[in-house]
Amino acid sequence: MRYLILSDIHSNWEALAAVLADARDAYESILCCGDLVGYGADPNPVVDWARSNVAAVVRGNHDKACVGLDNLEWFNPVAREAALWTERNLTVENLSYLRHLPQGPVPVEAFQILHGSPLDEDEYLLSALAASELAEYLEAPVSFFGHTHIQGAFVLNGHAVGWFDKPDPGIDRLALQLEDDALYLINPGSVGQPRDNDPRAAYAIYQPGARRVEFRRVRYPLEIAQAKIRRAGLPDLLADRLSWGS
Ligand code: ZN
Repeated sequence: MRYLILSDIHSNWEALAAVLADARDAYESILCCGDLVGYGADPNPVVDWARSNVAAVVRGNHDKACVGLDNLEWFNPVAREAALWTERNLTVENLSYLRHLPQGPVPVEAFQILHGSPLDEDEYLLSALAASELAEYLEAPVSFFGHTHIQGAFVLNGHAVGWFDKPDPGIDRLALQLEDDALYLINPGSVGQPRDNDPRAAYAIYQPGARRVEFRRVRYPLEIAQAKIRRAGLPDLLADRLSWGS
């Protein structure tokens, strides 16, 4: 089985559509590490699509916030405004779907998917030190996570922790060959709001049989997503930052 691994789609339909077109026949099953909604202007198209196409998905902090499962005081004013807008605009069916998303980690074959960290779904896993401290708690050698919107992988090999970085701006695809004796915390990157200084939509293809992860980037018509955000009356910053990729 080959998996299309998505995370942090954030109601960005244009980015999701570009990813699906780019990935085409490279996968048989779709997984998502959370944050289907929040920030963008197309929560219903994204959740409608997820309900009928995604094999497994864990909840993200924005999925929780938009259905009243999280305290909005933890959100900055821009994220809070977007969460409240999203809650007002989601259909009853989509609100119910988001409310019942499972908390990660969720096992898939011999690997797992989660949103923040294996111990705390809301933690931002940003440093090699933080990754190294998780080694003894990992229930699978390969874990996919999201939340930081930064594509790449922590590679834990004994006491050493390395970072496998995303494809350079001029490259669309970069493969990571997994070793038998290492542990991996892998972030496919954010589909709908990248924050690693590259505005292209990010995702990954995972082939457990070949022990291979391919990180991918694809351009999408972000000006359409930006126009929708402005037309919806969402904060301008949410449109602007899509151009910056940060
Ligand atoms: Zn997110």
